[in-house]
Amino acid sequence: MTEHWQRRAWAEVDLDAISSNAGVLKAVASPAALCAVVKADGYGHGAVPVASAALAGGATSLGVALVEEGVVLREAGLEVPILLLSEPAAEAMGEVVARDLIPTVYTQPGLDAIRRAATRASRRVDVEVKLDSGMHRVGADFDEARRIVEQVVQAPELRYAGLWTHLAVADEPADPFTGEQLSRFDALRSSLEAAGLPSPARLHAANSAGAIAHASSRYDLVRCGISLYGYLPSTAVSPEPIEAAGAGALRPALTWKTQVSHVRTLGAGERTSYGRAYALAERADIATVPVGYADGVPRGLFQGGGELLVGGRRRRVAGTVTMDQLLVDCGPDSGVRCGDEVVLIGSQGAEIVSAQEWADRIGTISYEILCRIGPRLPRRHVRGAVGPL
Ligand SMILES: *Cc1c(COP(=O)(O)O)cnc(C)c1O
Repeated sequence: MTEHWQRRAWAEVDLDAISSNAGVLKAVASPAALCAVVKADGYGHGAVPVASAALAGGATSLGVALVEEGVVLREAGLEVPILLLSEPAAEAMGEVVARDLIPTVYTQPGLDAIRRAATRASRRVDVEVKLDSGMHRVGADFDEARRIVEQVVQAPELRYAGLWTHLAVADEPADPFTGEQLSRFDALRSSLEAAGLPSPARLHAANSAGAIAHASSRYDLVRCGISLYGYLPSTAVSPEPIEAAGAGALRPALTWKTQVSHVRTLGAGERTSYGRAYALAERADIATVPVGYADGVPRGLFQGGGELLVGGRRRRVAGTVTMDQLLVDCGPDSGVRCGDEVVLIGSQGAEIVSAQEWADRIGTISYEILCRIGPRLPRRHVRGAVGPL
């Protein structure tokens, strides 16, 4: 299907920006290594091209949520370490070993399953153990983590490759809970050391927010997703450590473009779209834009006061976003024509609309905006300068 796209709507992903962001994050976190998190199809940017660009920019490993996501990367020929960020199902462990993915384990059944799969394959398999230090999503508690590490170290078919945890509030830098989580992680390390167990090859705790805002969370490796794509994790995270690292600024990699598909001039008092929720105060050119909520434009964008760019200017979303189309108010005598470029996310002229702006308007985070851009929208991977369709 992607070979034969007919629609004039697409997301342009600047792979130079991805490589550059990887370099920036590596500089910020140095001497820690960078694991590029490319789950959810690279946060909607295309996992394989993003992974290659991140590796070119200095990442040395990849992180994904699902075994299937790791398989896609292997099938594309990527040979670097790939960490599975959650424990795979017991039935998936054969595939994990066959594809040389690194499973995270934190339950006894999960550990037993990877041991059986490694034995069946007559392979020595790297595994990482995850501590739940307070996020309470996945991970082993302190005592269980100790028991699992002890068994991993003693199992000849396994290699103890990593010990890690995940931070719940790193994107709220003033919250002391991050410090609390890191102390629990450090307490586990000391307790394992005191028991004479070897240290793993890598200790890690930081997501993008940890890598940028919490120097003590960087350990041997930082696992960065959102900032690889050019966004700060939240508006509370300061870019100051990035500026101080002197390797440049983060650059959003994705620009969402389309073209005006229809224009009509309506008089004052006319109402548009489902529910007739938008009323024109004066005569205006209303442009139709051929993307909708099925492509990932939040339906709440109209109620949130959303704007997009046509002719280098911000234009108000004029009425309820529909499944395949939305309307914008271009004002009177706009000169806007069918075929004019529309930028939903990205820049046009001097104006910029970011995924963070959309997120703020509808009460979510940039992550959700980006990874909900649907499979129906073609991705065009470019390097640097972006051209017309
Ligand atoms: C998604 C994820 C990350 C990346 O988080 P960002 O905030 O996008 O940098 C890191 N670690 C784990 C365990 C994750 O699930």
